[in-house]
Amino acid sequence: MRIVVPVKHVPDIHSNRQFTPDGRTARGADDGTLNELDENAIEAALQIVEALGAEGRAASEVIALTVGPVEADAALRKAYQLGVDRAVRLTDPAIAGSDVFGTATAIAAAVRTLEESGPVDLVITGMAALDGLGSVVPALLSADLGLPQLTLASRLTVADGRVEIDRDLDGVTETLTASLPAVVSVTDHVNTPRYPNFKLIMAARSKEIVAWDLAAVGLAPDAVGEAGARTRVVSSAPRPPREPVELVVDKGEGGRALADYLIRNDLV
Ligand SMILES: Cc1cc2nc3c(=O)[nH]c(=O)nc-3n(C[C@H](O)[C@H](O)[C@H](O)COP(=O)(O)OP(=O)(O)OC[C@H]3O[C@@H](n4cnc5c(N)ncnc54)[C@H](O)[C@@H]3O)c2cc1C
Repeated sequence: MRIVVPVKHVPDIHSNRQFTPDGRTARGADDGTLNELDENAIEAALQIVEALGAEGRAASEVIALTVGPVEADAALRKAYQLGVDRAVRLTDPAIAGSDVFGTATAIAAAVRTLEESGPVDLVITGMAALDGLGSVVPALLSADLGLPQLTLASRLTVADGRVEIDRDLDGVTETLTASLPAVVSVTDHVNTPRYPNFKLIMAARSKEIVAWDLAAVGLAPDAVGEAGARTRVVSSAPRPPREPVELVVDKGEGGRALADYLIRNDLV
């Protein structure tokens, strides 16, 4: 079983995020991290190969793949800590300014390049990148690769050349199945990502990160980046500061103060 997990290096969601004047995400070198939701995708891949037993595990490979700058190695090192077997980074100056289409095109080209050294059975993504929140890369990937897509899996099993997932909708759970190879995105309900153990943390420091550029995956520079973008950030504005809060110290009249507030603000 060979599984590719596309992972994104994202700004720390607790950091103060900014845009550059030309609408790009301003990235600091040291505030990036592995997209938290991609830990669920890595965990899903590891559980699938672990269920194959020692022999199946030895014949399997879980590959973390990122499209991003050199700093994205931090996300790949974290993926190594969690237990992936190999890490690949696709970096090229022409990728800067990519929109979702360019990013998905680049990931798909890298998956095809990985297929040159052996078939890829599954591509497992997170449900969203916590910076872009597009949740559209998995669908674009499956279209580009010509593979079935099973998105937002809250349960995932693989058996007899097929993948089966549950997708929770409002009041109903769908069970969907597709033949392998396929693209699956998983939610944060699918599993609980493991904590890296000390041995893997230490080993991750010196593991190889394979670095490719666009030429290595057979893509022309104008297929990605600003040249290949179909959307453009027209403007961005910082979120307005929060209104000052009205703090009531409850000295026995808190209930009345709350009721007064609700009435005053037409909230009842
Ligand atoms: C080098 C680079 C430069 C960029 N420059 C700009 C810019 O200038 N302005 C701007 O607004 N945006 C830029 N982007 C961001 C881009 O527009 C989107 O963030 C990106 O296309 C993914 O969309 P999303 O974040 O909504 O992902 P989603 O669709 O929410 O992600 C779903 C899943 O897809 C996978 N995935 C997503 N992105 C990647 C990735 N990069 N590598 C591997 N797996 C991934 C993950 O598994 C993730 O959980 C850039 C992206 C890259 C890689």
